[in-house]
Amino acid sequence: MLRFNAFRAAPLLRCNARCKSTSTTAGGFPEKLAFAFDIDGVLKQGPNVLPQARRALDMLAGNNPWNRAIPYVLITNGGGVPDEDRRKALSSELGHELSADQLVQSHTPLKLLVKPYADKHVLCLGGKGDAIRRTALSYGLKNVWIAQDVVAWKQSVWPKTDLTPEDKKIVVSNDFSQTPISAIFVMHDSRDWGRDVTLICELLSSENGVFGTRRQEKKEMDSDDKNRSSVGSEGEEHMPLVFSNPDLEWQSDYPLPRLGQGAFRMSVETIYKATTGRDLPFVQYGKPHKATYDFAESMLRRHLKTLGRPNEHERLDIWIVIDNPESDIAGANAHGWNSVLLKTGVYRTGEPRHKPTSIADDVEVAVRWAVERAARG
Ligand SMILES: [Mg+2]
Repeated sequence: MLRFNAFRAAPLLRCNARCKSTSTTAGGFPEKLAFAFDIDGVLKQGPNVLPQARRALDMLAGNNPWNRAIPYVLITNGGGVPDEDRRKALSSELGHELSADQLVQSHTPLKLLVKPYADKHVLCLGGKGDAIRRTALSYGLKNVWIAQDVVAWKQSVWPKTDLTPEDKKIVVSNDFSQTPISAIFVMHDSRDWGRDVTLICELLSSENGVFGTRRQEKKEMDSDDKNRSSVGSEGEEHMPLVFSNPDLEWQSDYPLPRLGQGAFRMSVETIYKATTGRDLPFVQYGKPHKATYDFAESMLRRHLKTLGRPNEHERLDIWIVIDNPESDIAGANAHGWNSVLLKTGVYRTGEPRHKPTSIADDVEVAVRWAVERAARG
């Protein structure tokens, strides 16, 4: 009989019909089992780590009947700080040393996207201070500008809010009338929606990505002008605009959900449509979008290699443990992952619109249940 040192008391959950069997070795260790955890509302509530999270990760670190590590990755629509900074902070908070391949923030998959823009000028938005600049630089971008740089260049760009003393310490001086911006990456929640919506809408309608200019409408241009109308190097008619997190809401330690980057994007879409008559051109990353799940699975496989278990071609039995029935379950279902929806975050009760594989009170119950189930085969 399997014995889980610290976890005997919890009840098993009922699993719905979409639960899949998991093959195990003769000794019962579930070789293909792997976990992906959301952070906010699953491992943490606001700044506080849930005690159940530490116990769940203990189990995956080897406090289980086989004394073997079960791989996992943290996958969050949060972000706003360099991955290495976040990895160190989370390792300390959770009491488990995470490796670099165990953390996917909302903007981490952008690493795969930035190469064509490495030497170009890019506007990065969101987050506190210049953390997003440091994040973008860590991904290989070399000319990274933030909203405060633009306001410092010309306060009349956004006269509604003054730069704070902290902002003035981190701005980089630049003449944006001579700087063609090639792409906009929204990498975390905006701290100043009015300013950031204004900057995005202005750049999307600008001539070659230069602030203070306005591109001519196609109907007003002759054919020679049309050849010069593209913004960006990939021949796109519109400047590439990328959002890293589609979440409408997120759960802090406040009792009600707060508006997230998805709400900000909606405001940009609405205002861009109202001012130009056009639909906003953008690319969306973050759960539930496929690129984020593909990236997280590649990270899990890299992590398996570091555990001495290369598993490049075999199908993994991945369980994602989540709290947001809107952003998390649809992506998991579409990606062939199992999902456990918790009641410690955005979701509390009722029938979720997207159906998870199962529902649990907290992360400890979910992990114990999934491991025991996998071990039974
Ligand atoms: Mg969450």
